[in-house]
Amino acid sequence: MSILPWLQPHWQHLCAYSAQNRVPQALLISGNKGLGKLQRATHYAAALLCNNPQQSGLACDHCTSCLLLKAQSHPDFIQLQPIEPGKTITIDQIRQLISRLTLKPQFESFRVIIIDPAELMNKAAANAFLKYLEEPTERTVMILITDKPTRLLATIVSRCQKIAINQPDKTIINAWLKQHTSQEDTSLLLNLAQGSPLLALQYANENILSLRNECFETWINISQQRMHPVIVAENWLKLAHAPLLTWMATWVIDLIKCRYPINVDDLYNPDKQDYLIALVEKIEPKGLYKLYDLLLMRQKLMDTTINKQLLYEELLITWSDLNLRKIS
Ligand SMILES: [Zn+2]
Repeated sequence: MSILPWLQPHWQHLCAYSAQNRVPQALLISGNKGLGKLQRATHYAAALLCNNPQQSGLACDHCTSCLLLKAQSHPDFIQLQPIEPGKTITIDQIRQLISRLTLKPQFESFRVIIIDPAELMNKAAANAFLKYLEEPTERTVMILITDKPTRLLATIVSRCQKIAINQPDKTIINAWLKQHTSQEDTSLLLNLAQGSPLLALQYANENILSLRNECFETWINISQQRMHPVIVAENWLKLAHAPLLTWMATWVIDLIKCRYPINVDDLYNPDKQDYLIALVEKIEPKGLYKLYDLLLMRQKLMDTTINKQLLYEELLITWSDLNLRKIS
């Protein structure tokens, strides 16, 4: 296990808690998506549970406790999340958790509970959790993880030790990416991952750039009425792993930006600047804003059971029509 470079200072901060015997009862880890918040919480949990923690503060990786944790069967470790994606964490889940905590930890060291994403506790769940924090059980560490800390109850936040992970500098992330992938264009990958290093690495491993280039070409073909949106929608349905709506949103944002004199580094898709500039001259700006709003609205539905083919059709037909209208 190694600590991501941008998490190193926070890691030392956590190790200091343990070294000084001041392990907090509740920790709140906040920061943008894809910075490794959960990874860090899990490392810390492992270190707290480990029978033989290393000098670096990390878990030993081979004691009984570490092996149980790896096998996902450690009795003193609980990870709480919504039962289904897109749902909240319910009061029943919190009640079950609290009733489990009335028993003593099974081993000598701590018991660790990770709640991720913590902001998904619904109101009743959050209130029940707050009651627990007012009277916490012994040797128990709660770790809350969130990328939307303002959505948590202020009374919960005030009872937690806070660790905020800032967005690392691009040069640090690029250097880290270059160590972990042979792909050349790490800056572009990072742009596509909206600044998230872990997602950028995943994209590199999945060779997502070539798929994104193909999809962009298709999108251009639609604008030139060389491909039919309905047929493309049917094909795109098979690309469930690709963040198609995010890509389209960045293409539209870049088109809007290209209406003005712009530094190429400010684009999400700097490698597509020439195509974008050629396109934007023919498109009505109002329509671009409308398409962008539509993309944002539809993005919220992607985790639901909505008919994705119809959703792609709607977006691609809107895009196609936008290119038919002439600027007067
Ligand atoms: Zn261990």
